[in-house]
Amino acid sequence: MDKIKEYLKNKTFLKYLLYSIYIVITTGLLFAFLGQPSIRNFFSIIENKTFDVRQNILASYKKADKDIVILSVDEESYEYFLGKYGEWPISRNIYADIVTYLEKQKPAVVAFDLMFVKSLKSSNNADNKLAGNIAKYDNVFTSINFDNQSYALRKPVDLPQALKAKVVNDSDINLKSDYFTFKNCRAIIDQILYATPNIGHINLVRDEDGIARNLAPFVAYKNDLYPHLALKVAVKYLQKTENLNLDEYKINSHGDLLIGTRKIPLNGNGNAILNWYGPSGMNSHKTFEYIPMWKVEKEIYEGAKLLHNNYFKDKIVYIGTSATSLFDLKSVPTDRIFPGVEIHTTFVNNILDNNFIKKVPPVFDILISLLLSLFVGLIVIRSESTVISSLVAILTGIIYTIISTALMFYFNLWTGIVFELTAILLVFIACYLAKYILKSRDLEYTYALATTDGLTELYNHRYFQEQMLQNIETGKRYEKPFSLIMIDIDFFKKFNDTYGHQSGDAVLRQVAQILKKNVRSSDIVCRYGGEEMSIILTNTDNESALFTAEKICKAVSEHPLKLVNGNDVQVTISLGVATYPQDGQTPQEMIKYADDCLYIAKENGRNQVGKKPKN
Ligand code: GH3
Ligand code: MG
Ligand code: MG
Repeated sequence: MDKIKEYLKNKTFLKYLLYSIYIVITTGLLFAFLGQPSIRNFFSIIENKTFDVRQNILASYKKADKDIVILSVDEESYEYFLGKYGEWPISRNIYADIVTYLEKQKPAVVAFDLMFVKSLKSSNNADNKLAGNIAKYDNVFTSINFDNQSYALRKPVDLPQALKAKVVNDSDINLKSDYFTFKNCRAIIDQILYATPNIGHINLVRDEDGIARNLAPFVAYKNDLYPHLALKVAVKYLQKTENLNLDEYKINSHGDLLIGTRKIPLNGNGNAILNWYGPSGMNSHKTFEYIPMWKVEKEIYEGAKLLHNNYFKDKIVYIGTSATSLFDLKSVPTDRIFPGVEIHTTFVNNILDNNFIKKVPPVFDILISLLLSLFVGLIVIRSESTVISSLVAILTGIIYTIISTALMFYFNLWTGIVFELTAILLVFIACYLAKYILKSRDLEYTYALATTDGLTELYNHRYFQEQMLQNIETGKRYEKPFSLIMIDIDFFKKFNDTYGHQSGDAVLRQVAQILKKNVRSSDIVCRYGGEEMSIILTNTDNESALFTAEKICKAVSEHPLKLVNGNDVQVTISLGVATYPQDGQTPQEMIKYADDCLYIAKENGRNQVGKKPKN
């Protein structure tokens, strides 16, 4: 009995081991699969989408800085200018006058998110006037744009020294990566280019899905770095309002660009992830204050009173376009039609509020995934209920998603969601399967214990009775015969007395093996009790059963059996056969009939198959 238990236990242990190895290998393969660049890319695109969802949810709880105002050529202004001047773009005289108009009100900063490129349309006088007015005030800024046009189209210009950024980079971020290095430059008019250092780039690189989530504070051109217009604007604003003193830009070893006490976390290629304030404010005033440019134009040239007195005092005035027909529109996480100028004011606002998004390093995501999967895996393995364990897995995913959204809101942290949820799902499935398989193995083991005889490893008496009933049922339904052979070892008491009980046991085991070898695998060999055994021959008629009984009788009598001392002995058996339905209709009747035959065999001298005389 102990031996069989141990045997089965060892077998189960082996299976547990095999399953563990299986899980480790499949998980390993899955992770190797997930690590493939194209798969990683796929995951990062979905992860970006989760960022967008979080940003959308949180946008309504964030307030944009009301001191940032967008003076915009919106739909109305565009229509107004076309109507009044009959052309677009409007004369640079108007922009020159806007500078004078604004400066009278003492704004903190004025920034043109417009590029004054060389244009045949523009008169030299207007260009000179604009350049003069821009250069007159140290708080007026304008923009430049880099691109990768071929040298055949235009020669890349040299830019004035004053525009280059001095950057002390203590991190391992490569600010001159291919990603942010440009070959060419769309030059603006020399009158401005050489008159003021207040020029910043307005380049934008979108993610694979066409959505702008990041901005580069610096881009490289001809081996020099140039700061973003928004960065320059914010620094100017802080110089005025907080006496910020910044001669050079510094990036610390953690990859944070330091603006006084504020930090702009940069990712590997020097990108900053923006924190968005909401869908475009063009029509709804959800983000920044918008002033249509036609109102200012009317105030300047027609003496109209459309805005409050000194409306622009101390404000950051960003001048740009938002009319859809002017095409300066991008997709951002919170809106599909977002004016470029508003992306840049968002950048300024993020600096002032020190709330750029920081993506946690991949190690964190892996650690969080491991912790979550471990938790879910343990619950799945320990819980008895599928409902509870799947609920726990789903809730874990939901709660984690909520927590990561909260982390983004309160700490501006971007923790991964896709990788974490995938890990939870995979571990849930793996553990659930493993548990299910092991459970069924356990059942098998318990069932084997409950139906097996410990000494002979034959089926036990209980199983025999069960199978008798079963076979009678089947026999009845399909009108098929089956047979039963009852076997009793001859003179076994004497055998025990002669050779001892241990040898008796050994012989019982060997006889059991001989029986098994001489019947079909569908036949059921059982230990009936003591040294009596029984065989249920499924689908077997009387003739075949008698034949089998004879064969077994002969096989046992001819087979040398080993005693515990190693000597060979021989035993014989007596047998009785009963066949359903003619010899009995119930298990009891069948057993009684076979027993009667067995008794006859004993009477007739043993070592034979006993038969009742036919009447
Ligand atoms: P017969 O030819 O008439 O069957 O003579 P017998 O001595 O075999 O008589 P019976 O069948 O009544 O004997 C049963 C004996 O079988 C009693 C017991 O000593 C022996 N026996 C029963 N179970 C075991 C067992 O598990 N191990 C051993 N060693 N002996 C057993
Ligand atoms: Mg007996
Ligand atoms: Mg006997």
